[in-house]
Amino acid sequence: MAKINKIMSNRRLLALQEIMKRQPMEFNNSGKQISEYYGSNVFGYDAMREYLSEEAFNMVQDAMEKGSTLDRRIADQVAACMKAWAIDKGATHYTHWFQPLTGTTAEKHDGFFEPVDKGRAIERFSGSQLSQQEPDASSFPSGGIRNTFEARGYTGWDPTSPAFIFDKTLCIPTIFVSYTGEALDFKTPLLKSLSALDKAATEVCQYFDKNVTKVIATLGWEQEYFVVDAALHSCRYDLQQTGRTLLGASPAKGQQLEDHYWGSIPERVAAYMRDFEYECHLLGIPVRTRHNEVAPAQFECAPVFEEVNLAVDHNQLLMDVMEKVAMRHKLRVLLHEKPFAGVNGSGKHNNWSLATSTGKNLLSPGKTPKTNLQFLTFFINTIKAVHEHADLMRASIASANNDHRLGANEAPPAIMSVFLGEQLNKVLDDLEKNVHGGKLTPEEKTALKLGIAKIPDIMLDNTDRNRTSPFAFTGNKFEFRAVGSSANCSGPMTVLNTIMAEQLIKFKDDVEKMIAKNMDKDEAIFHVLKKYIVDSKIIRFEGNGYGDEWKKEAKRRGLNNIPTTPDALEAYISKKTLHLFEHMNILSHREQEARYEIALETYTKKIQIESRIIGDIVTNQIVPAAIQYQKMLVDNVSGMKTFMSPADFKKSADAQIEMIKEISERIAAINTDVFKMIEERKKANNLDSAKKQAHAYCEKVKPYFDTIRYNSDKLELMVDDAMWPLPKYRELLNLK
Ligand code: ADP
Ligand code: MG
Repeated sequence: MAKINKIMSNRRLLALQEIMKRQPMEFNNSGKQISEYYGSNVFGYDAMREYLSEEAFNMVQDAMEKGSTLDRRIADQVAACMKAWAIDKGATHYTHWFQPLTGTTAEKHDGFFEPVDKGRAIERFSGSQLSQQEPDASSFPSGGIRNTFEARGYTGWDPTSPAFIFDKTLCIPTIFVSYTGEALDFKTPLLKSLSALDKAATEVCQYFDKNVTKVIATLGWEQEYFVVDAALHSCRYDLQQTGRTLLGASPAKGQQLEDHYWGSIPERVAAYMRDFEYECHLLGIPVRTRHNEVAPAQFECAPVFEEVNLAVDHNQLLMDVMEKVAMRHKLRVLLHEKPFAGVNGSGKHNNWSLATSTGKNLLSPGKTPKTNLQFLTFFINTIKAVHEHADLMRASIASANNDHRLGANEAPPAIMSVFLGEQLNKVLDDLEKNVHGGKLTPEEKTALKLGIAKIPDIMLDNTDRNRTSPFAFTGNKFEFRAVGSSANCSGPMTVLNTIMAEQLIKFKDDVEKMIAKNMDKDEAIFHVLKKYIVDSKIIRFEGNGYGDEWKKEAKRRGLNNIPTTPDALEAYISKKTLHLFEHMNILSHREQEARYEIALETYTKKIQIESRIIGDIVTNQIVPAAIQYQKMLVDNVSGMKTFMSPADFKKSADAQIEMIKEISERIAAINTDVFKMIEERKKANNLDSAKKQAHAYCEKVKPYFDTIRYNSDKLELMVDDAMWPLPKYRELLNLK
């Protein structure tokens, strides 16, 4: 009886019983078409038209398009209308919604109501409440920018991303800056980078089309994620606290059969997807594609691309929505880059391009030689920019989580390179060959232009895809594939926009210098592009990015391969990076150095938490289960001894005695490693800089995760299944 009680109190077994009863949770949108409710929780174009006066409407549109500021009177009007709209929709609270450097979103809800005399209340929301708030921000990371005695930070309305209602709260997207004006968030530098890029790209567009007045960057992210049952999740302290499993033996069947990718979606998950997509559509997030991913229980969703700032906000919001909706379905979504060892991790491809006010995609080849020269200009400048700042790109996607993916034969390596596809490689090779140092003859120019004119035709059947490249051209956009699934896209997008803006400014300078030497414009452009093709050649790679050959080849070419975050982050504070951000007016040295410190601290904290949790779990759950099983064996062996002859006993008990010994050895090894790991932690905590601490956690503490796990996973394979406390991989990954 005692044993049954013991088994019944095993939470894993209870959870396994519970999930047998699960049914898909259907939700009901009353059979409506998406177009009928799309964006209905957004204070967007239609809502503004309906609620705002003509004057306010035009001013807000202007602010959205040109970044002009709204005066106090108009802000009051907009606030009053937003409030009326939100209250009509059942909202009771409002919040400034911002993206501090923790990587998640922050919100502090305030009620609209204000008590007035005689115990009554009215709903109030003014222009100043809309435009600016002063959250007590002392507990957000600032990298030393904001002293704790100066806890004030400001949030300021970003009218380029529309307000929306989520959970009965009016959410107003805002930037977050310190009292002294330094950026404390992801959005501030992103907006600056977008405006720098707009300016630089619009100027370059003038060479080709005088009608272009604005260039926007576009982003279409692809979000990968895992889904597990909530009951099993609740039995795993590691999943809850760190988002990944720190222990767990590989299942006999993982992803070897490759039967999950694009397979049929399990019913419970399909119901979950329909539900969160519905919530997304209400919020105007244009999610459109869904499919199974490579690993079991792994999926992906992707939207139609949007302007970068909006796309970033939508991705942040999507991650929130996915987490909230999963609860309703008794599921948990895992956005971590590597929730399970031995199966693929999750990324978030960032598809990036540039679009003009005239509706043209600058990275899409056009129909005439002229527009194709424009295409080539932007295309080659992107390659040059990545070549120039490859290490900064690597830093922009560095995190403790993403370290598990990069270079682990499932995601692009930690070496930055650009994939173009065979056809475009040939176009660049031809340009390189045919543009020589001197002046081009009219025939040569015509030949070049004719060659370029053929690009759209060759692109039609340019279907080659290289999934192993961190930065690949895919027909009409570049795809930054190395971004992690839980990351805020702002980091990599800010870098990409900024390096491109800087590059386009250099390009214009270089072309103007040639024109000053009496070259005509097209010829000058050809010459500069040729030079860039030569200069940036080493960053182009068409082969298998997962292979060891590439590591050797990259080394030969002088490209860096930086596998860990503490090393990758160095590029954040290189002279080149500090100069870039300052010169382009995106982040000052102080702001950039603060970001570097925060990234290091975040890294250290993540590894520290994982280290504590792995220590706790093996000590409090794994070792006791192993001892319990060992005791069963010991009892059995001593029982055998009471009635067997010594010869029979030896024959029958030997195997079990070996198991008893092995359990003792593994327990001893685990205990020793946990002890040593704690000692390393203590030493690391005493180091006097964020950099030294991050390195110590990476190089001295983290290696123990593997040795502890190794012994724990061996025990998992030995111990009686009914006694094992943690849901196993085969159970977590087997969603029906
Ligand atoms: P794959 O999985 O093959 O890479 P998908 O069709 O799943 O391709 O994803 C393509 C993504 O690229 C989508 O999110 C889409 O919105 C985005 N995309 C398409 N065109 C552009 C563009 N011009 N700018 C930015 N993103 C784009
Ligand atoms: Mg993709």
